[in-house]
Amino acid sequence: MKGGLERCEKRLRSIINRTGMRRLRLPSHNCHYIQYNSNRPIAFFITNMRILIISDIHANLTALEAVLSDAGEVDATLCLGDLVGYGPDPNECVTLVRQLPNLECLLGNHDAAALGQIDVDNFNPDARTAIQWTRQTLTQESQKFLQNLPETIVREDVTLVHGSPRQPVWEYLLDTRTATLNFEYFDTPYCFVGHTHLPALFYLPDERVGAHLIIPEPSMQLSMAPRAILNPGSVGQPRDRNPMASYAIYTVEQNLWEFQRVSYDIAAVQARMQIAGLPSRHIQRLSAGW
Ligand code: ZN
Repeated sequence: MKGGLERCEKRLRSIINRTGMRRLRLPSHNCHYIQYNSNRPIAFFITNMRILIISDIHANLTALEAVLSDAGEVDATLCLGDLVGYGPDPNECVTLVRQLPNLECLLGNHDAAALGQIDVDNFNPDARTAIQWTRQTLTQESQKFLQNLPETIVREDVTLVHGSPRQPVWEYLLDTRTATLNFEYFDTPYCFVGHTHLPALFYLPDERVGAHLIIPEPSMQLSMAPRAILNPGSVGQPRDRNPMASYAIYTVEQNLWEFQRVSYDIAAVQARMQIAGLPSRHIQRLSAGW
């Protein structure tokens, strides 16, 4: 019995460490009490903890608001980088993201470029124009938030990076060959990535065979099994020919990953981009989803 209580306590502590939640403020619908006997302390145990996974918001506030409303109540949020770049609402997106409870957030390549940490020569001319506009528009407060973001986060079963475990900010995980190599660069059962703007799951059933790729249908639910690399797609600029904002819900206890899509008012975002003088190619691509 002692072992059971210890395991329960250990699990609870790791959840608290991971989420920053305090014991007395656990959402009541997500916890229950386990009492081993009257002399022992009561352990709180969270079941079905729902975690929102978002990436590549790219300063698209309308898409971000649609995702948050569609996702409903969640216990924590993981944001995999590129809060800014391309879109018209960099400060509004930073302000909204940083208010999300139990947030873990990474630095993306566009965030780094907007902070001047990366030479804009690495970007194509349109992306460069958008980055320069973003640099001029970001408030000091937004810059401060972005400056403090890490490139990698490891929490219990999951490694979080923007690009890939091998090159956290830059590398694109687009094919099984690159994914296979990258399984050697993290130790946890799972790795969550963004950067490609394409929802995907790479899994490694056998190291001799290499990684497999699943490209999900919208609303596809997957039971996660080690080891896997998962990408929730992009909130603010999807590139899989589906213009709807993309995100995922990870239900921890059940190891369940749900890919989700939600429509938003694309024309309103395009109108704000026009007013800001952002490149027309970036304005058009939102309605085509590429
Ligand atoms: Zn991006």
